[in-house]
Amino acid sequence: MTDRYAVFGHPVAHSRSPDIHTAFARQTGERLSYERIEAPPDGFAAALDAFFAAGGRGCNVTVPFKAEAFALAARRDPQALRAEAVNTLWRDAGGVLHGANTDGPGLLRDLQANLRWPLAGCAVLVIGAGGASAGILGPLLDAGPGRLRVLNRTPERARALAERWPGQVEWGGLDAPQGRYDLVINASAAGLGGERPPLPDSVLAPGARAYDLVYGVAARPFLEWARAAGAAAVQDGLGMLVEQAAESFHLWRGVRPLTAPVIQALRAG
Ligand code: NAP
Repeated sequence: MTDRYAVFGHPVAHSRSPDIHTAFARQTGERLSYERIEAPPDGFAAALDAFFAAGGRGCNVTVPFKAEAFALAARRDPQALRAEAVNTLWRDAGGVLHGANTDGPGLLRDLQANLRWPLAGCAVLVIGAGGASAGILGPLLDAGPGRLRVLNRTPERARALAERWPGQVEWGGLDAPQGRYDLVINASAAGLGGERPPLPDSVLAPGARAYDLVYGVAARPFLEWARAAGAAAVQDGLGMLVEQAAESFHLWRGVRPLTAPVIQALRAG
């Protein structure tokens, strides 16, 4: 029998998750299907119920439903509790709805295992204070940076986020970078509108690296700025996308797929 999985979002047509999970299933021999489900903005809970009632086994959740998924999950993993957002759901044999957040672990695997970029002792700047930023700050702190600062277009949201880790995360508006950084991570959605956060070149320390959570064309404004401003290396978020999917796949199926060939295939295609 083929087990059914899906990604819920609004919009969701752009999602690469079906390609990624189909590739994982082929590689590991797991029998599953994976589809996109566009739920109306006020209809996520009903769409989720219908999915599970029809035999769905688990799903990913993307914008704008991650906070609602967190609220609906009866059991949440530590990453979800820290992020107050869930991107992975499944029901156990007793019908209990479990929620996890794999965004942070996915980013960390891309930075550390794939790119081999150092984090311990580094000054790290994160731009954006939305759901993605909430998911990555805890795992970044676990890596032991020397300094972690979050900046946001709406500074109040950066403050609210930083206050979840008192004394560990600095915050400010986009005009207050305060210093130089070894790693600058763009976790804002600016690139989707063809823009980049207006940072001065001086935020990049000698040898600095720049990472954008978005991928493809949307990552260009930020990464092209970083390269021109002297970054030693730049990378978009395609690796994170595949790694967070691999974490979800492992939670659902108990099997860890190889990610490198899937990242390579997506870049080629
Ligand atoms: P979100 O909750 O909607 O938050 C969007 C964030 O971007 C907010 O901090 C917002 O600032 C900021 N922003 C939007 N437009 C901006 C602009 N023109 N200039 C500066 N800041 C701007 O979205 P999210 O869930 O955090 O996702 C952020 C991005 O990460 C999305 O593009 C998403 O696709 C990507 N992402 C990638 C992965 C991956 O696996 N690669 C995983 C998760 C997310 P305000 O608070 O001022 O509105």
